[in-house]
Amino acid sequence: METTLPISATDQAMQLEWNYGAHNYHPIPVVLTRGEGVFLWDVEGKRYFDFLSAYSAVSQGHCHPRIIGAMIKQAQRLTLTSRAFYNDQTGVCEKFMCDYFGYDKVLLMNSGAEGGETALKLTRKWAYKVKGIPQDQAKTVYAAGNFWGRTLAAISSSTDASSTNDFGPLLPGYIIIPYNDLNALENAFKSDPNIAGFMVEPIQGEAGVLVPDEGYLRGVRDLCTRYNVLFIADEVQTGIGRTGKRVACDYENVKPDLLVLGKALSGGTMPVSAVLTSDEVMLTIKPGEHGSTFGGNPLACAVTMAALRVIDEEKLADNAMAMGEVFRARMTALSQKTDMVKLVRGRGLLNAIVIAEKHGLGDETAWEVCLRLKDNGLLTKPTHGDKIRFAPPLTITEEQMHEACDIIEKTILAH
Ligand SMILES: *Cc1c(COP(=O)(O)O)cnc(C)c1O
Repeated sequence: METTLPISATDQAMQLEWNYGAHNYHPIPVVLTRGEGVFLWDVEGKRYFDFLSAYSAVSQGHCHPRIIGAMIKQAQRLTLTSRAFYNDQTGVCEKFMCDYFGYDKVLLMNSGAEGGETALKLTRKWAYKVKGIPQDQAKTVYAAGNFWGRTLAAISSSTDASSTNDFGPLLPGYIIIPYNDLNALENAFKSDPNIAGFMVEPIQGEAGVLVPDEGYLRGVRDLCTRYNVLFIADEVQTGIGRTGKRVACDYENVKPDLLVLGKALSGGTMPVSAVLTSDEVMLTIKPGEHGSTFGGNPLACAVTMAALRVIDEEKLADNAMAMGEVFRARMTALSQKTDMVKLVRGRGLLNAIVIAEKHGLGDETAWEVCLRLKDNGLLTKPTHGDKIRFAPPLTITEEQMHEACDIIEKTILAH
């Protein structure tokens, strides 16, 4: 008699994705079915601490009742009109966001990549309409190691071969300089009068949570002002409380000309991105020149206002600041007990540890550690090989943080 082994719900779900989905991701082998606050549950009923928060999109915690409440209420009334007509939510949300972040105007899109692309298009328009750069000659500068999405405009600035291999030709008009290097930035500005903008992450997230030197953002601001170049801050990952401030540029009290936001803008419920800027820049784009069917839809607008209110009313930036201190203190103490943790870095609740190579295999060690963390009830993923990012929802309590750090410590010391 033939016997067939029962296939687990986990294997079944993973098989389906493998058989029918594109193979464009390499996930940690866990199948999730429910989330609440800082926790996720898999299909077998096991509970995990979420220390990735969907790359910081779920900063307000999974299924936050006020955000989901706003979503349900709006979804039952009106979800999408397109921008062919006005609706009673978009303008309210635009005013709310301009007041919240201190800008004249906002342009709403969906994914973070679209936000970045919108900032680039605004920068080019401004180059021709205001700065007076000759047609089609505008250049934009990016820092090596940047990540702003997977569209062709975004990967054209990438220095990561796996993002660009066999996807060429890439967009022209890009200049790449080293990150955290003000001399390189000034040399670029000096050598080319057709530079219109510099797009930079205040902390490079995907590159492994790289925090620049104190004074870098202030220096970027000064150079951009001096050379009449737009300072575009990509705060899609760092913005909205994640690093312990409303936006990471607040650490040096600098105001970028264009602020790009995404991810946590909707509390992890739907894609919402935004570019905030001055009238001088925003009004260079005229009706019919840019847009998106879903950008600024009433559902997104209702959800965004709720998600931003939660950040303020629950003081999540302050909590991120305090809990980040607890996390880094615990990891620094851990690094003194083992050679495996080389370094801990980050701000607020955007942190990473660098894993030491074991038998020359630092990347595989980081992946192995993430698998063992999963077994022990904590989820995250390596970024750029040997770094492990730790970015829990900003709602995490001190008790939960210590419990999570106990799991990390136990896992690493057992490895
Ligand atoms: C994730 C990310 C993006 C892209 O956002 P998507 O919604 O994935 O397109 C852009 N910039 C930064 C800094 C990011 O971390």
